[in-house]
Amino acid sequence: MKIFYNTKDIQTYLATQNSQSIGFVPTMGALHEGHISLIATARQKCHIVVVSIFINPTQFLASEDIEKYPSKLLADEKICRLAKVDVLFVPTVSQIYHKLETKLLAPSSKAYILEGIDRPGHFDGVLQVVLKLFHIVRPDFAFFGKKDAQQLYLVQNMVETYFLDITIVPCETVRETTGLAKSSRNSYLSSDDRTKADQISKSLKTAVKKVQAGEHSTELLKSIIKEKLANLSICYVEIVDKQFDSIDTIKPNDTIILVAVHVGKTRLIDNIWL
Ligand code: AMP
Repeated sequence: MKIFYNTKDIQTYLATQNSQSIGFVPTMGALHEGHISLIATARQKCHIVVVSIFINPTQFLASEDIEKYPSKLLADEKICRLAKVDVLFVPTVSQIYHKLETKLLAPSSKAYILEGIDRPGHFDGVLQVVLKLFHIVRPDFAFFGKKDAQQLYLVQNMVETYFLDITIVPCETVRETTGLAKSSRNSYLSSDDRTKADQISKSLKTAVKKVQAGEHSTELLKSIIKEKLANLSICYVEIVDKQFDSIDTIKPNDTIILVAVHVGKTRLIDNIWL
């Protein structure tokens, strides 16, 4: 596995790998089974697998403590070797950002809802860094988790609006045996918090069962989920279609139920696709 810390070096290396398909998995590190499944999917599909680890400052709000975001570079490197990653890219902030930045704005009607309400500007930062990484790596395929459904939608939208020749591959959410979606932020949870956090996936499962039993009113489904999450601090419970428009009635094969909560100080998100 080659490791690059410098933008020019990785670009020069990848330029010599012509005619090989490049699969790209952008991450913020503290790798877990969720990331590993994205890498495994990329490994199956592509000749060269590139993983980036970059804790992107522009997607954190001033009030969010980026310094506290878990960083486990040595373990991450080992995980990448085991997962047969070809190229690991670990740039510094100054490698990625310039003094004078041309900024990219995510469409506000889709980026300032849900995650964007508590985290205004978050997706502008996400798209800014993803576009930069796409230009550096020039992948044929890029792999994103359905767990971050709104991010996945906005990245896909950016690829379309900027005519990027990249196929975005959505990947299923990997969960703990309890159902809790794997997340780098789970390391902040005490065992008591974990028990509480298990309610998140349980509430989503309950909603799915209700839908299967014929309940299609999103208002009713949302109130059922909220009841299940009564012991947690709810940020939002929403039901949208795959274009992230709010819906009153479940649309078969075109519905995402999304939940964000605080468990103690930790903000967790999860969703289920119908
Ligand atoms: P992050 O390091 O949190 O920025 O995540 C990097 C990528 O991994 C994103 O595409 C996430 O959606 C994806 N990801 C994070 N958690 C999971 C999970 N539990 N299952 C599948 N993919 C995930």
